[in-house]
Parts: sequence; C-alpha cells; structure tokens
Amino acid sequence: MTLAQRPQADTRERAAGLFPGGVNSPVRAFAAVGADPVVLVSGRGAHVRDADGHEYVDYIGGWGPAILGHAHPAVVDAVGAAAAAGLALGATNPLEVELAERIRARMPSLERLRFTSSGTEAVMSAIRVARAATGRELVVKFAGGYHGHSDGLLVEAGSGVATHGIPGSAGIPEAIAGLTIVLPFNDPMSVTQAFAAHAGRIAAVVIEPVAANIGVIPPQDRFLEHLRATCTADGALLVFDEVITGFRLGPGGAQARYGIRPDLTTLGKVIGGGMPIGAYGGRADVMRLVAPEGPVYQAGTLAGHPLAMAAGIATLDLLTEESYLRLESTSEALAAGLEAAAARAGRTVAVNRVGSLLTVFFREGRPVDAADAYASDREAFARFFRAMLAGGVLLPPSPFEAWFVSLAHEESEIEETLDTARRAFAS
Ligand code: PMP
Repeated sequence: MTLAQRPQADTRERAAGLFPGGVNSPVRAFAAVGADPVVLVSGRGAHVRDADGHEYVDYIGGWGPAILGHAHPAVVDAVGAAAAAGLALGATNPLEVELAERIRARMPSLERLRFTSSGTEAVMSAIRVARAATGRELVVKFAGGYHGHSDGLLVEAGSGVATHGIPGSAGIPEAIAGLTIVLPFNDPMSVTQAFAAHAGRIAAVVIEPVAANIGVIPPQDRFLEHLRATCTADGALLVFDEVITGFRLGPGGAQARYGIRPDLTTLGKVIGGGMPIGAYGGRADVMRLVAPEGPVYQAGTLAGHPLAMAAGIATLDLLTEESYLRLESTSEALAAGLEAAAARAGRTVAVNRVGSLLTVFFREGRPVDAADAYASDREAFARFFRAMLAGGVLLPPSPFEAWFVSLAHEESEIEETLDTARRAFAS
C-alpha cells in the first residue's frame, strides 16, 4: 500500500519530522498505550473519524470542551456568524460581556473576571494576582494536579507530565520550583502541617476540586472544607482550578457541587465551546489589582476572542439543568456497565466517576491520591486501550486521564462502548 492510500500514516510521518514527538501537545502522543497516535479529521456528536476513514465513539471530547458533542450546529453557526463579523478587532466586543455575564450568573463567586486564551494563562495569572494580593510568595498545590504548563505549577504535575513519567520539567529554575509546596491530595493533616511550617508565607492553595489529571479522584468528605477554613485562618487565597470541572459538573461547577466558595477560580475548555480560551476571576477586591485598574499586569492580543466568546455563549445556553441530569445518568450507566463488564471477565478495576468525568483504574480499590493512581497496572490499561480502539472506541491514551462523556452520548453509544469493553476485558 502506498502512503497516499494510508493518509493517517502519511500525516503521522510528516508530523514526526515537524513536531517534537510528532504532536503539538504531549497528551496526543500514544506512547503510554503502545499504539500509533490517531490522526483525526472530523467529529460529529459522540463520534470522531480518523484520516483513514475509521469511526470511533469518542471519550477524549477534545480533552473537555466537547460537552455538547462535536460540531453542534448551534455552536458552528455562532462561530460562523462571529467570523463573518471580523476575527480579531482588537477592542471590546459585546460578546465578551455576554459570555462573562452568563458565567457570573451561574458561578457567583466570580464577582469580576478576565478572559485569557488558555487555561495555562488563567491559572498563571490567578497565582500572580494571589501573590500580589497577599504579598506572599509560596504556593501550595497537590501531587498529580495539573494547572497548565507555567513554570511553578509543573512541579509533580499530572496529565502528560504523569503519562510520560517526566519528574517535573527541565528548564525550570530551582528558585521558582522552590516556591511550590506539593502535598498529597485528600490529606488534610499535611495541609495543616504545611500551614504550620510556613505560617503567613503561603499566598495561595491551588487545587482541582475534583482531581481529573491523574484520572478522576473526588475530594474526600471535608477535605475542601478544611482547605477553605485553613486558607481563611491564615490569610491565604483558595484558588479552584475548574478548567475541567467548570460547567461540566453542573452550572456552578465543583464549587456549587461541594458548597465551597473559593477566592479565585480558573476556567477554560467548556466556556469556549472548543475554541481556545481561559478565564480567571473571583473576589472583586482581589481582581481590582489587575491592570489597568491595579498593578498586576496581565494581557492578551487574542484574549476574549469573538469566536471563542460566540462558541462559549452557544454552549452555555444549551447547558440546562436537564442536560446535567442527562449527563449524570448516561455516565452512571457507563460506569456501572464498565464495572460489571470487568467483574464478569474477572478483571480487577476501580471506576471513579464524578458527573460526566470517569476513569477506569486497573487496580484494586478506588484511588484517593496520586500515589494510589500511579500504582495502577499501566500495561493492563494499554492492552485495554488498544482493544477498545480496535473495537471502535477512542479513550484518552493514558491511564491517568478522565474520560469525557458528552450530551451526544446516547444509549446506543453507551451500549456500543460496553459491548466493546466486554470483549476487551475478556481478551
Ligand atoms: N488546569 C486544568 C485543571 C487542566 O486540566 C488544564 C488542561 N488540561 C489546564 C489547567 C491548562 O489548560 P490549557 O491546556 O488550556 O492551557
């Protein structure tokens, strides 16, 4: 067969010569699952198609934004209309106000906010503001938490950092990494100890309230409450990184689900409906510090981009209370079916699920922190992944990523997924 008859292999080979690892983001490499990376050319609803014409039921979901499914007509139309009006005009656009008002109405802790072009920028900026607001330098994060690729937050990070076994990252000065304190997720005692050891020196605690970058790990009872109380008592700011959980776990994100009001919140993914986006916001007195109102500089040529705003507005307008109930029941059926399929085949797995985020861990017992997650059978996951792929189901190519269920996943897609999983577990 010539390369022209194998467009996927052709693109892959050319990409390998152009991009480090053949990809423009490490999670797209399939090294952890021992397979060739797929080259996707289109997506519609719950399905994606590769360059060779194979269709898959998709659980990558664009890594989070595709909560309505791919290429939802309302989103496509909104983006088309925005593009026709001019791509980047370089001044405030009414669409920015429209999206921001929708976000604040659903997530009232964002009294004021700012749009960025990525989640990385959102979290990086939130930390800068927190440092300015407190006059402190230290930041607490949790092992396996991924908050984008800004220098200080790559320490013991999840996502591709964990998937590819990179211990932090090269190129980050000690002086910067040393300002990050990493604690185990779900361990309130270590939080108390860190605050005792560094009283009055911690600017912020940044956390994915539901950890979703070492696979899905929910917060244990009272853990988030403990963080809230500890931060308040010490004068540190609590930053919820809701880049994944925001508008996915419900209209009010994880903060509404668990009833905790953070000082600052970061968003991304769903709020841009698949376009590049991020946002950070929170207490008005803190956000007042951001330029040009205050001394904390943060900017972006393409921030608040009209196409991202339009896609976000169309997406949020379709996310009703009923949507979240449907996502919950679809995801519950999927998780229960996967557990049953594994049990029938005599496989030991633990399925963690919060809303439409879930992970099948190849280990006994549900993990509660990164160390537990890392103690999964990576080879077993890789075999399962390849069997699912061969059966027409595309999972995130890592044992440490969440599967993203969308509103386009209907009973038929779930049944197809479970049929494939039964065969995959049995093989
Ligand atoms: N925070 C979290 C929780 C994320 O999952 C991600 C990306 N997966 C980011 C921040 C960074 O977002 P981006 O990739 O848009 O920079």
